[in-house]
Amino acid sequence: MNDMNNLYRQIIMDHYKSPRHKGLKGYKCEHLHNPSCGDDITVEAKIENGKLVEVNHDGAGCSICCSSASVMSELLSGKDVNEAKEIIEDYFNMIKGEEVKDEDRLEDALVYQGVAQFPARMKCATIAWQALKDVINDDTDGDKNE
Ligand code: ZN
Repeated sequence: MNDMNNLYRQIIMDHYKSPRHKGLKGYKCEHLHNPSCGDDITVEAKIENGKLVEVNHDGAGCSICCSSASVMSELLSGKDVNEAKEIIEDYFNMIKGEEVKDEDRLEDALVYQGVAQFPARMKCATIAWQALKDVINDDTDGDKNE
């Protein structure tokens, strides 16, 4: 285990043990379940004037799932919706091992880049991000019927 992996593991465990933005306040939310691991997570967002004013999460799951929900909520709270969408796409690309447009914007979320080597854990690392993406899309596609 090299130093970088050690640092990454510390960040993941820190967010797992002391999650940020945990607890729902009643904003528009999306609940997702990952049967293969048991991750069960709800992500909510307060969206106002094209901005993610606040992102929160709640639920239970493995360290990767719960910590990534915390990292995501901290990273994307306060971002413009359009910028958040780009960051979410970059994150998905990183997890898939594909090219990322702007690595710097991922900040602490970069710690999950190693997940690309473990296909079984990809769902764990992306479930919270997918839930937030759904909340954003629901909000911006309000007039469309799925
Ligand atoms: Zn999991």
